[in-house]
Amino acid sequence: MEAPLPTPLPPPPALPADELAEEGEPLAEEFERFFLCPLCGARVSVLLDPSVESQTLIEDCEVCCQPLEIRYTVEEGKIAEFEVQAA
Ligand SMILES: [Zn+2]
Repeated sequence: MEAPLPTPLPPPPALPADELAEEGEPLAEEFERFFLCPLCGARVSVLLDPSVESQTLIEDCEVCCQPLEIRYTVEEGKIAEFEVQAA
Protein backbone atom coordinates (compact mmCIF):
# COMPACT_ATOMS: atom_id res chain seq x y z
CA MET A 1 0.00 0.00 0.00
CA GLU A 2 1.48 3.32 -1.06
CA ALA A 3 1.71 6.20 1.37
CA PRO A 4 -0.43 9.12 0.19
CA LEU A 5 1.51 12.07 -1.11
CA PRO A 6 1.37 15.07 1.18
CA THR A 7 -0.96 17.67 -0.23
CA PRO A 8 0.92 20.91 -0.81
CA LEU A 9 -0.71 23.86 0.88
CA PRO A 10 -1.97 26.48 -1.55
CA PRO A 11 -0.22 29.82 -1.25
CA PRO A 12 -2.12 32.32 0.90
CA PRO A 13 -4.19 34.69 -1.20
CA ALA A 14 -2.68 38.14 -1.53
CA LEU A 15 -4.81 40.82 0.11
CA PRO A 16 -5.29 43.87 -2.05
CA ALA A 17 -4.32 47.08 -0.26
CA ASP A 18 -7.83 48.39 -0.77
CA GLU A 19 -9.10 45.85 1.73
CA LEU A 20 -7.33 47.80 4.42
CA ALA A 21 -9.34 50.97 3.82
CA GLU A 22 -10.55 52.82 6.90
CA GLU A 23 -13.45 51.17 8.60
CA GLY A 24 -16.64 52.97 9.48
CA GLU A 25 -16.89 54.87 6.23
CA PRO A 26 -20.21 54.12 4.59
CA LEU A 27 -18.99 53.49 1.07
CA ALA A 28 -21.85 51.23 0.11
CA GLU A 29 -24.14 52.29 -2.68
CA GLU A 30 -26.91 52.68 -0.19
CA PHE A 31 -27.07 52.34 3.54
CA GLU A 32 -29.58 51.88 6.26
CA ARG A 33 -30.47 54.70 8.61
CA PHE A 34 -32.38 54.10 11.81
CA PHE A 35 -34.79 56.64 13.26
CA LEU A 36 -37.73 56.89 15.62
CA CYS A 37 -41.09 57.12 13.95
CA PRO A 38 -42.66 60.49 14.96
CA LEU A 39 -46.11 58.91 14.92
CA CYS A 40 -45.72 55.67 16.85
CA GLY A 41 -42.25 56.05 18.38
CA ALA A 42 -40.99 52.75 17.02
CA ARG A 43 -37.40 52.39 15.89
CA VAL A 44 -37.54 51.84 12.15
CA SER A 45 -35.05 52.04 9.33
CA VAL A 46 -34.92 53.35 5.81
CA LEU A 47 -32.45 52.71 3.00
CA LEU A 48 -30.81 55.89 1.77
CA ASP A 49 -28.90 56.47 -1.41
CA PRO A 50 -25.79 58.52 -0.60
CA SER A 51 -25.12 59.24 -4.27
CA VAL A 52 -28.05 61.67 -4.26
CA GLU A 53 -27.08 65.00 -2.72
CA SER A 54 -30.48 65.91 -1.35
CA GLN A 55 -33.68 63.96 -1.37
CA THR A 56 -37.17 63.84 0.08
CA LEU A 57 -38.78 60.44 0.38
CA ILE A 58 -42.21 59.32 1.41
CA GLU A 59 -41.94 55.99 3.19
CA ASP A 60 -44.53 54.12 5.19
CA CYS A 61 -43.52 53.34 8.75
CA GLU A 62 -42.82 49.61 9.08
CA VAL A 63 -44.75 49.52 12.35
CA CYS A 64 -47.73 51.87 12.13
CA CYS A 65 -47.87 51.94 8.29
CA GLN A 66 -48.44 55.69 8.19
CA PRO A 67 -46.60 57.74 5.59
CA LEU A 68 -43.52 59.60 6.74
CA GLU A 69 -41.67 62.34 4.94
CA ILE A 70 -37.94 61.77 5.14
CA ARG A 71 -35.61 64.54 4.07
CA TYR A 72 -31.87 64.20 3.96
CA THR A 73 -28.77 65.72 2.49
CA VAL A 74 -25.49 63.99 1.71
CA GLU A 75 -22.00 65.43 1.94
CA GLU A 76 -18.97 63.43 0.84
CA GLY A 77 -20.94 60.20 0.83
CA LYS A 78 -22.22 60.68 4.37
CA ILE A 79 -25.57 61.83 5.69
CA ALA A 80 -25.20 65.48 6.74
CA GLU A 81 -28.82 66.20 7.63
CA PHE A 82 -31.69 63.87 8.34
CA GLU A 83 -35.25 64.82 9.20
CA VAL A 84 -38.42 62.80 9.55
CA GLN A 85 -41.95 64.11 9.95
CA ALA A 86 -45.47 62.94 9.34
CA ALA A 87 -46.25 63.29 5.64
ZN1 LIG B 1 -44.76 54.42 13.01
